[in-house]
Amino acid sequence: MNIALVTGGSRGIGRACAIKLAQMGYYIVINYRSNAAEAESTLEAVKAAGSDGELLPFDVANKESVETAISKWQEAHPGEYISVLVNNAGIRHDNMLMWMTDDEWSSVIDTTLYGFMYVTRALLKDMLVKKFGRIINMSSLSGLKGLPGQTNYSAAKSGIIGATKALAQEVARKNVTVNAICPGFIATDMTKDLDEAELKKQIPANRFGTPEEVAAVVGFLATKEAAYVTGQAISVNGGLYT
Ligand code: NDP
Repeated sequence: MNIALVTGGSRGIGRACAIKLAQMGYYIVINYRSNAAEAESTLEAVKAAGSDGELLPFDVANKESVETAISKWQEAHPGEYISVLVNNAGIRHDNMLMWMTDDEWSSVIDTTLYGFMYVTRALLKDMLVKKFGRIINMSSLSGLKGLPGQTNYSAAKSGIIGATKALAQEVARKNVTVNAICPGFIATDMTKDLDEAELKKQIPANRFGTPEEVAAVVGFLATKEAAYVTGQAISVNGGLYT
């Protein structure tokens, strides 16, 4: 059985990734933090796509929560391993740096960077032993160019690109690839407070992207054919960043 774990799979881009990988035949482990009803909807969509899966709630930013959930999963699935990991869980707490609170800073950094580290570290050994793995990290346009009001988010998302490039070099020989995706403005709960009519004027494609357009790239990176693509940060942004 080919198994994929999508963190933050209950909504938005994570849900679209879960459905895409389900269409490709993956059994999907759907992580989320608190929104069980939405995670159940993702599981229904995974089943409707012809595959199967299960829910695995944990807080990616909490080491004990991650390690307990993943080791329980591993004990319950002897002989199986998660070969595709989509580190997608993320939050934003925007503020100008001058007014930014410690919590606004650390919650965003912890979810993105500690989340990447705790989950990836727990799954990497099996990928290396089995000599196949695909790690796909959700960065952002904000991590490439920086966006005002998002010093916390830009720092976290830039950090994930650095981590992607470093880890890719550690594990390439074992046929484990590590890539980042940098979406621009994608229509999800995370961006529903933004003024699309105003912002789309800056976007060459003249619209926000869809979660499915990001998931299409995740799907490609998960394939065996993508074996020679590693250590990259791939933009999906309607031409916004040049
Ligand atoms: P949403 O806000 O729609 O969904 C966020 C998801 O992350 C939810 O499933 C949520 O779970 C989960 N999550 C948040 N914190 C944690 C945590 N500590 N532990 C586990 N799960 C958590 O976001 P998007 O789909 O828009 O974004 C997905 C990723 O893409 C994020 O990393 C985001 O930064 C990135 N991105 C998004 C862009 C956009 O325009 N939308 C642009 C660029 C990057 P729950 O439902 O339980 O709350």
